[in-house]
Amino acid sequence: MQSAYKRRDTLISLRRKLHRAEAKWQEAEAELKTAREAADLAGLAQTKFLAMMSHEIRTPLNGIIGMAALMLDSTEEQKQAGEDRHSLGVIMQSGEHLLQLLNDILDVTRLESGQFRLEETAFDVRTTISSAVSLMQPQVQRKGLKLSLSFTDDVPLRAGGDAGRLRQILLNLIGNAAKFTETGSVSVAVSRLGYTDGTVRLECRVSDTGIGIAPESLSRIFEEFTQADTSIARRFGGSGLGLAISRRLVAEMGGTLTAESVQGQGSVFRFDIQLRARRASDLAVTNLSGSEPASIVSTVAVKLTPKRVLVAEDNATNRLVVTRMLERLGHSVETVTNGREAVEAVQTGTYDVVLMDVMMPEMDGLQATMAIRALLSAKAHLPIIGLTANAEPSDALACRQAGMNGFATKPISSERLSQAMHAALAPMQAPEPAIDPQQPLPYAGENRLFDPAVLDQLVMRSGKAEASSAIADFIEHSTAAISRQHLGATVPDARAIAATAASFGLMRAARMGLDLTDCASADALAVFTQVLSQSVEELRSWRRLTLL
Ligand code: ADP
Repeated sequence: MQSAYKRRDTLISLRRKLHRAEAKWQEAEAELKTAREAADLAGLAQTKFLAMMSHEIRTPLNGIIGMAALMLDSTEEQKQAGEDRHSLGVIMQSGEHLLQLLNDILDVTRLESGQFRLEETAFDVRTTISSAVSLMQPQVQRKGLKLSLSFTDDVPLRAGGDAGRLRQILLNLIGNAAKFTETGSVSVAVSRLGYTDGTVRLECRVSDTGIGIAPESLSRIFEEFTQADTSIARRFGGSGLGLAISRRLVAEMGGTLTAESVQGQGSVFRFDIQLRARRASDLAVTNLSGSEPASIVSTVAVKLTPKRVLVAEDNATNRLVVTRMLERLGHSVETVTNGREAVEAVQTGTYDVVLMDVMMPEMDGLQATMAIRALLSAKAHLPIIGLTANAEPSDALACRQAGMNGFATKPISSERLSQAMHAALAPMQAPEPAIDPQQPLPYAGENRLFDPAVLDQLVMRSGKAEASSAIADFIEHSTAAISRQHLGATVPDARAIAATAASFGLMRAARMGLDLTDCASADALAVFTQVLSQSVEELRSWRRLTLL
């Protein structure tokens, strides 16, 4: 009997303990929830704060870099003495360095606070990687290093993913390889690891023959603000953020970034990423359809005929920088200082294109664009280019959604400005479509700028040596046409080039050239010349990297 009482008491005491423990657990859970919500809010506030600061810092930087670039240009013209040019060069470099730092800090914060989102578009994998590599070519060449790129045959032509971020990772790794290598080579090798259920997994390796990394530093270099040895910042510059960002970006893309290195012999950085490939044909190298990558680097600036440009910008320095740049490019400029004035000016004046700052008092650039698009006259279709100091991907989307034809990020340069104008004024440049996960990847047919798969076939058919010399002839012929009396290609040039351009992968130039009529306007020829020179540059770097 006594033992039954004892058991009951023990049971009651245990139950009480359980209740107390449960209450404590619930209390702790509630506290954790509040703390998590507070942390999320703090993360969001931090990201918003940084995005605003970035905008505020970018605006004066635009003035510094833009003015320095203009002065460098004019000292070039006047052949002024070396010291001034040197000082201006230092201002430019420091400005650009500061800008890089700003971008890196923004990325780190977004990635850490969970506010980071990858963009997903259909892109040309091979061309995106090739153009990242060719962008680094001058830097690598300046040091006397050899740069090579190779793809295994099974690397897909097209896939869905964030082309910009893939490019960013590659630029960081190739940039490091070039920075830490004095003699020898830098090579990039891309292969396919597998394909399952609509997902393709790619591997990229960036190898160099540089100074290498000590074993004890190998794991630390992926931490923020960390460099392999403390003298590096002084010797080579850099902030120690690049690898930390790249590793996180790779993780966002479903892969890992690792490094192997032997001190004094070189390093290999390797990463894998997952991309979406919805059609079996996306994986076939022989498939020729597709659209251009998100951005193609052009080194040739072809002049547009003079345009009447309306600039809407509230910041006086930036207004001056943009106006001077446009005037130097031969355009005439009128300026207004907010969106409301821009809408009024469009209604009363005559312009070919509007450059519209996004953030302005009274009426911002997005609202002004929507107001212009709602006009009941032909002016509703006026090309509008957004100028934005915000580097967020969502800003690009907002510009497009408001009805802008394109946008350029500050600090603006003459090249970027004229490229944005060309793109907005060229009738066939459509924005890269966002991917709807339910739909197959979109195709833009022959509109692709450069298709290296055509050249792979050419090499297979005729052998490396013959293909290389045929390509060299074509490049020589086209380059002569591009610079014909400094005026660009003529209609007969365009026709002659178009007849063979597709055989060298210049799909868009081929189509545009064949479409030109005898009485094609100077603008149509300028756009053709621009497209041709961009694609010839692509072809030239492809030949250099693949055949030489
Ligand atoms: P940063 O290059 O701006 O210093 P990173 O995060 O890109 O920052 O690189 C961190 C460090 O890793 C570098 O400072 C360097 O010590 C080391 N490192 C990166 N890549 C290489 C390489 N290819 N060869 C030798 N050391 C490297």
